[in-house]
Amino acid sequence: MKKRTFIKLAGTAGAGLLLAPLAGCRNEESNDSPKTDSATRPFLFAQEPLGYGFDALEPAIDAMTMEIHYSKHHAGYVNKLNKAMHASGMATDGLTLESLLPTIAADQTALRNNGGGHYNHTLYWRTLKPGGSAAPEGALLKELVDTFGSVEAFQTAFSQAAAKRFGSGWAWLIRNAEGKLEVTSTPNQDNPLMTKIVEQSGQPLLGVDVWEHAYYLNYQNRRKDYIAGFMQRVNWDAVAANDRA
Ligand code: MN
Repeated sequence: MKKRTFIKLAGTAGAGLLLAPLAGCRNEESNDSPKTDSATRPFLFAQEPLGYGFDALEPAIDAMTMEIHYSKHHAGYVNKLNKAMHASGMATDGLTLESLLPTIAADQTALRNNGGGHYNHTLYWRTLKPGGSAAPEGALLKELVDTFGSVEAFQTAFSQAAAKRFGSGWAWLIRNAEGKLEVTSTPNQDNPLMTKIVEQSGQPLLGVDVWEHAYYLNYQNRRKDYIAGFMQRVNWDAVAANDRA
């Protein structure tokens, strides 16, 4: 799969849904439902399946937190994004979430918060897996070492960015505009693809959610312990797959 397809939500002619191109997802283009005019058919972003159970990341991330986070918080962003898309009246043919984010201006609050919220959480679920994976491998491993000095030094930089994010937000490993790996952080649901908004833009490879809703039930105020648990569940193959060719 071409790497840039990572989070594209392909426009579909049949039911007008936008679904991530994952194996097992129904291909809306292959059904026989009648095509409708683009001005009248509904435009909907959708959550993709989690891919593992709510309890599958225990004890690092507890089942109740996962269920509420996916079913309430992330779902809320998707619903509000769809409402904001309708309200904006913007053309949606061929639009993907990845192509939308760089167009969003700082004062487009609903698109900014909910478009970012949908993208950020989709990436978060995809880059975690039960049991995690021990360490990055191959080209990503070499580049992390070349850039940060060691995998441990990268993890320290990433964890510190997450711990120091004041209030709600995210810490990121991105490939920046110069093509280099970089650790960054954004407030709220801002995202490194929002080039009109963020100071350090780039392609997100890994992101940790440090909103209190991501950890408070299990960790209360111990954000650093949650970050350490998160690092134990990272799916490094998925992180590498998020990288652009
Ligand atoms: Mn969240």
